Amino acid sequence: MEQEGKCALCAVQNRICQRQGGTGPKFCSTALYGDALEQARAEYAKSEVGEFARQAAIQEAECYAGRDVSPGYYHPAKPRLQEIMEFARRMGYRKLGVAFCGGLHQEAAVFCKILTDNGFDVVSAMCKVGGVDKSAIGVEENEKVRPCSFEPMCNPIGQALVLNEAKTQFNILVGLCVGHDSLFLKYAEAPVTVFAVKDRVLGHNPLAAIYTCDSYYRRFKQGQLKEITVKEANERRGD
Ligand code: SF4
Repeated sequence: MEQEGKCALCAVQNRICQRQGGTGPKFCSTALYGDALEQARAEYAKSEVGEFARQAAIQEAECYAGRDVSPGYYHPAKPRLQEIMEFARRMGYRKLGVAFCGGLHQEAAVFCKILTDNGFDVVSAMCKVGGVDKSAIGVEENEKVRPCSFEPMCNPIGQALVLNEAKTQFNILVGLCVGHDSLFLKYAEAPVTVFAVKDRVLGHNPLAAIYTCDSYYRRFKQGQLKEITVKEANERRGD
């Protein structure tokens, strides 16, 4: 395919994906991926998937107040904590799984208590569950956070399988690392949502780097990180 979808670069005002009769640029994903989007429509036609999507759409709208006042008056009214609980209740989920990072143990404890106080059964699994040293997956001592000591690996597959065995109906991630979250998402059987993502430096608010990318984090826009990461990756591979 000559063109590939680049919605993030779209500057069209009257977008085809947002307005009937709208248009799109030459890299428009709506125009380029007709088959994929047709396939997506077929997925929503499946009753379970369609109902999940329908409830998610209703929940989305219910996160705004003032919709009944006038068009344009509506405004956001519910934090994500509330959104997650309302959606779970809307879907009839009673048993929730929480997969969290040990670095956010306190936050996870408060989060789980709130879920419990609000009537949910909660099963939780911390990232280090199983207590397996990182050497088991081929991590060298000098690649550990604290070399030459027992250092349990993050075990997102273990977290997923624990929650699968507990038969949770809906899983929620709290601060898993990049890559660990990917494995959890791959192995979890129940649907997953994210309450918090990890950013060790920015207080778990990764968007802060975007909001400040014209000032304190402008080095990212200047591509400096690319040189560093490419160099490091090459060294690691021995190139
Ligand atoms: S689907 Fe097309 S119109 Fe919509 S944001 Fe993407 S590129 Fe723009």
